[in-house]
Amino acid sequence: MAKKEYIFNPTTLAYEPVRRPARLRRYIIARRGILLFIVAAVVNLVYSFEFYTPKMHAIESDRSDILGQYDVLSERISSMGTTIGEIAQRDNFVYRPLFGADTLSLMGIYSPFSESFYNGFEEDWQQVARHTWQQLDQQTRLLYRQSISLDQLQSLSKNKEKMAASIPAIWPINKKDLRGPIGAYGRRLHPIYKRYIHHKGIDFGGRRGDPIYATGNGVVSHTEKGLRRRGYGQQIVIDHGFGYKTRYAHLNERLVKKGQEVKRGELIGYMGNTGGSTGPHLHYEVIYMGRDVDPINYFRRDMSEAEFERIISEAKVTTFETLDNNESSVNE
Ligand SMILES: [Zn+2]
Repeated sequence: MAKKEYIFNPTTLAYEPVRRPARLRRYIIARRGILLFIVAAVVNLVYSFEFYTPKMHAIESDRSDILGQYDVLSERISSMGTTIGEIAQRDNFVYRPLFGADTLSLMGIYSPFSESFYNGFEEDWQQVARHTWQQLDQQTRLLYRQSISLDQLQSLSKNKEKMAASIPAIWPINKKDLRGPIGAYGRRLHPIYKRYIHHKGIDFGGRRGDPIYATGNGVVSHTEKGLRRRGYGQQIVIDHGFGYKTRYAHLNERLVKKGQEVKRGELIGYMGNTGGSTGPHLHYEVIYMGRDVDPINYFRRDMSEAEFERIISEAKVTTFETLDNNESSVNE
């Protein structure tokens, strides 16, 4: 309470308390109230900057709970990613090769969204949420890829019978017709030319006129007479579908025409010595997805394990062909 004010009364010759009008008194009380409120507000503001209020303590504790939960979520997404990775691994190395399908690659599937996609997660404490979202998006992409792969395998499995009949799987000549060892596939030092040469197929030595057979069902995609002393000479190329083609070169005679359907084991021509050839033989190629592969792996069906091992160990660098043979060839 403020001190009372006194005023000298000349009539009574005494000091008497000042009587203020009621309105003024109310004003003074109201002013004190407002001042008190402002002071309290300022104190509260300063206090809340320096110290946590109970409400803020509660918020802070909720926040660290949420961050903890995000950590758990993030770990679970990671372990989900590991599982997807294992499935993809099996898919790539077990299931897809069963159907002769290459590793699936989808353009752009692995590129993450741009950083701006995650706008709204700029605050420091939101980084954990942003990371979780990015992880989830990544796993979603991989799952999508996996489901596409399974779709492909499903349709391939429907075609499995057709595929089994089409993929080259037998010898292109009668085994009894083979003269001498097989001319090996691959990069070898040529004994006569003393140069490393990549041999795109394997060579079967035989006699002019030995029958040549289609090694799988397909359509003749190319046939030509070729040059007399260079290259493949008379040749036939069969497209088997599913990424496979076979080539039969240096023939003496061709019995099929372009566009003609052929069955596995069907007679398509006769062995010869045309093109860059030094003696009657068949140059046989298996081409998968545009690349030559070792044909030795495509007639196991015709051979026992022991026979297969023997042929592989006896295969020699071919001397059946002149140096230009593979260089002058047209790749199908
Ligand atoms: Zn050859």
